[in-house]
Amino acid sequence: VTVDAKGELSDVVFSQLPSPWTVQRTGYRPGLVALTFDDGPDPKWTPQILDVLKAKHVPATFFIIGDNGLTQRGLLQRLIVEGHEVGNHTYTHPNLATTSDDTTMLELNATQRLFQAFTGRSLRLFRAPYFGDAEPSTADEIGPAYAAQQRGYLSVGLHVDPDDWMRPGAQAIVDRTVAGVEAGDAERSGNIVLLHDAGGDRAQTVAALPVLIDRLRAKGYRFVPVSELAGLPRDMVNPPISSGDRWAARADLGLFLTLGGLTVAIKWLFAVAITLGILRALALSLLALIQARREAQTVFPAIDPTTEVTVLIPAFNEERVIERAVRRVLDSHDVAVKIVVIDDGSSDRTSAVVAEAFADEPRVRLMTLANGGKARALNTALLEVTSDIVIALDADTQFEETTIARLARWFVDPKLGAVAGNAKVGNRVNLITRWQALEYITAQNLE
Ligand SMILES: [Zn+2]
Repeated sequence: VTVDAKGELSDVVFSQLPSPWTVQRTGYRPGLVALTFDDGPDPKWTPQILDVLKAKHVPATFFIIGDNGLTQRGLLQRLIVEGHEVGNHTYTHPNLATTSDDTTMLELNATQRLFQAFTGRSLRLFRAPYFGDAEPSTADEIGPAYAAQQRGYLSVGLHVDPDDWMRPGAQAIVDRTVAGVEAGDAERSGNIVLLHDAGGDRAQTVAALPVLIDRLRAKGYRFVPVSELAGLPRDMVNPPISSGDRWAARADLGLFLTLGGLTVAIKWLFAVAITLGILRALALSLLALIQARREAQTVFPAIDPTTEVTVLIPAFNEERVIERAVRRVLDSHDVAVKIVVIDDGSSDRTSAVVAEAFADEPRVRLMTLANGGKARALNTALLEVTSDIVIALDADTQFEETTIARLARWFVDPKLGAVAGNAKVGNRVNLITRWQALEYITAQNLE
């Protein structure tokens, strides 16, 4: 800062521009390639990848999701035993740019504890989910990387990404990997390759792996774990836990084994429940088909138009639909209907509408009760019914003209106590009424 004779600032020179963050990068080692596998362990694909790596004598680095490791203790141990390195890829694979610092720490710690309990070693490498090349370039990406660094993690980036998770074909995975490695330079190193051993069908990754290993070797590249790129001994990236931590790890082990057992048990329970549900639906469908064949051979009794049927219509505040409902029943063919409308203490004009509309209709009778519920209304009316056959009908249910005659004819069989029709949902206008229609169909026709 320069001050002139009047005491005012005349010049300011920045020798170093202010910067909120400084990201240091290491690991550019021409001729070396580190294969990294994200999102595992997976009981199907991780063992196949390990078999290839073993046959080819290639050490690799696996960034695991804790939740996937919960039921895969043996696989985590195999990773260590077979000389691979393991890093932390969070517990549930969230986008850390959108989670709180506490959640980020919980994600890292849960996976750390799980790995310690299952293998007796710790995790020191970290890769954040979703961050493209995992090389933090914006503040919300640097945040989690910095938080992880504070906890002793080293963030592992990558510049060779063949997008194997998109399944572009094994050949494309090989070609993109080789091209990416060869394009590496000091500014944008091609030393670390990102592949996946979980998160879907990884058959293409498994198929590409031996080919890309051979091709890179033929070009003179040597495969190393990430620690070698960083110039660290392997025991620093997966150090054995201290004797003090061992007791804590043992307690965690019980917890994680219990959780893992529960996870497996719940999966089985679901599988059993779904299987039983499907078997039940199949059995019911079969029985329904048999029943339908039997019914096709049924001889229908003749319809006797003199059969007297009383239709009870309990109504509570139905002034808008009651007249139409009564008229529809009166339109019935081939049967002698009587109707009793039971107004269950409506506060609207239900009784008045019926009294006015059917004043000259001897077949319609109106009972106006104090409100007491549908069951009591029906029971009260039943005491006064003289017909042998009674139908209870809601005011919003509509009968075809022949419905009552078709229902009533079955009572020529003196052993029969009741018959039911096939109710269909009329207003199938939205999802709820469509589901209701489906329920009616399965309940009436299957169950
Ligand atoms: Zn991932």
